[in-house]
Amino acid sequence: MSDRLLRVENLHVSYGKAEVLHGISLAMKPGSIVAVIGANGAGKTTMLNAIMGLIPSRGSIEYDGAPVPRSIEARVAAGLCLVPEKRELFSSMSVEDNIMLGGFLRSPSERAEIQADVYQRFPRLAERRKQLAGTLSGGERQMLALARALMSKPRLLLLDEPSLGLAPKIVIDILNIVAELRNTGVSILLVEQNARAALEIADEGYLVELGEVRKSGPAAELAVDPALMEGYLGRN
Ligand code: ATP
Repeated sequence: MSDRLLRVENLHVSYGKAEVLHGISLAMKPGSIVAVIGANGAGKTTMLNAIMGLIPSRGSIEYDGAPVPRSIEARVAAGLCLVPEKRELFSSMSVEDNIMLGGFLRSPSERAEIQADVYQRFPRLAERRKQLAGTLSGGERQMLALARALMSKPRLLLLDEPSLGLAPKIVIDILNIVAELRNTGVSILLVEQNARAALEIADEGYLVELGEVRKSGPAAELAVDPALMEGYLGRN
């Protein structure tokens, strides 16, 4: 195993003629949480989408010591999984069917085994397994998005704003779940506007502004950085 699960070097992404990522570099150790913080429009979602292979990019993306596979399906098979900001659940399908969709690359017996683990981790979803996803609360929907992602047995979860739109107490619940996932060996690249809460559970942090990394370092150091406090850590 490589000592770096993910190594992104000089990543550029453009939409048409407009370049929005201007050479981002980032590295992640296996078993760690890396928080990416920054204002709206800084390019965080774009970065996750490029790492997942949803949009074209220039630069190098290495995963587990080798160039990341080309296709999205091969990236999923290799253990990458994106939980998008909008959750993208199927509202008119049951909780259970949404969860099962996440295991499409797995055999039926593997799916059943992983599903049992997932329900143990999210008892609330087990209780609501027959309920339509569209009837869940915001926090439950985020749990469902995480549960569906876990069905692919990810090694690297790319989480886009898991706290978006949630009440403060639920934000803490969700981020505690994310922190617990690290204890099961899953690494997490966590994009969050809720900078303080993200840095609290992260090992390393990156501040992205206008498509560039402005600052990076141990999360505990960034959490007390005066410049960050001024711009990002005030809100909670
Ligand atoms: P947010 O938290 O609002 O999602 P972000 O940091 O994730 O912000 P991105 O969504 O990656 O930022 O957007 C980066 C820049 O790229 C913004 O200026 C945005 O307007 C632009 N952008 C994003 N998606 C597209 C697109 N499909 N076409 C053109 N421009 C885009």
